Amino acid sequence: MRPIVIAHRGASGYLPEHTIPAKALAYAMGADYLEQDIVATRDDALIVVHDIHLDLVSDVARRYPGRAREDGRYYARDFDLAEIATLKVHERTNAKGEPAFPGRFQSNGEPFRIHTLGRELELVVTLRENGTRPIGIYPEIKDPQWHREEGVDLTRLVLEELARFGYEAHRDPVYLQCFDEREVRRIRHDLGSKLKLVQLIGEDSWSPEPTDFAAMQTSAGLEKLAETCDGIGPWLQQLYEVRGDGSIVDQGLVARAHAQGLVVHPYTFRTDALPHGFSDFDELLDFMVDELNIDGLFTDFPDAAIRRQ
Ligand code: CA
Repeated sequence: MRPIVIAHRGASGYLPEHTIPAKALAYAMGADYLEQDIVATRDDALIVVHDIHLDLVSDVARRYPGRAREDGRYYARDFDLAEIATLKVHERTNAKGEPAFPGRFQSNGEPFRIHTLGRELELVVTLRENGTRPIGIYPEIKDPQWHREEGVDLTRLVLEELARFGYEAHRDPVYLQCFDEREVRRIRHDLGSKLKLVQLIGEDSWSPEPTDFAAMQTSAGLEKLAETCDGIGPWLQQLYEVRGDGSIVDQGLVARAHAQGLVVHPYTFRTDALPHGFSDFDELLDFMVDELNIDGLFTDFPDAAIRRQ
């Protein structure tokens, strides 16, 4: 069976990430699931944006000068939805204002906007009712601990919004994802959610999060995850090793996860930023799909992932 194709932030290889046109394009390209990264505003609205910050993907600094925090960043949590709705979205930049992915679509003030989770779920309803294929959603709870310190229970709000659109049962076409292991456990065991859950796996060096990502990748760690989760979302480079002679060797994580009944959906497949050791996107897909038997993949280029299959 071919792996499911998860449109990472929409079709973000082609249009600014997490915009409604990017989501519609991803569906048109044949993606099976649309990803939503979810952050809360000051008035507790849920918006679909990759970070708790707004400055790298919008004109917030120009539009609301003086509203940055001491670290110079503009936080979605410091703005009401009505304010955020006025922002123009552009393709992601780095801290210097240069494009993060120089070969991608460059926006010149086109009317791309940040939207709410509800608006996107309405789009999914429309696609489901008018389209010819099923479509699933793949929401991510962003920084739940940080949100809690900011006075909002992001997870609870997300679960309520998903329930409002009928996403409540394990069979429903949704995977809920998070990097924070305690929060994933809370979603299942304290909040009682029956949705399919995916534990994202990062590197311990990436952030101060308390989650121990190294332990999670062992058989014992995966066995423990399987008490709570349906799958894992590892970083691509955790799945293989590049030997001195350039050969690529399976690290065994996919097989260890499968042995615990967990599906494996690695991130992120990019034609314009291939992972270490690979020089061709199809070669990357061949290895991941045919050799490792991954069950799904996050990609900025849904069309390229589907074309191969
Ligand atoms: Ca994400």
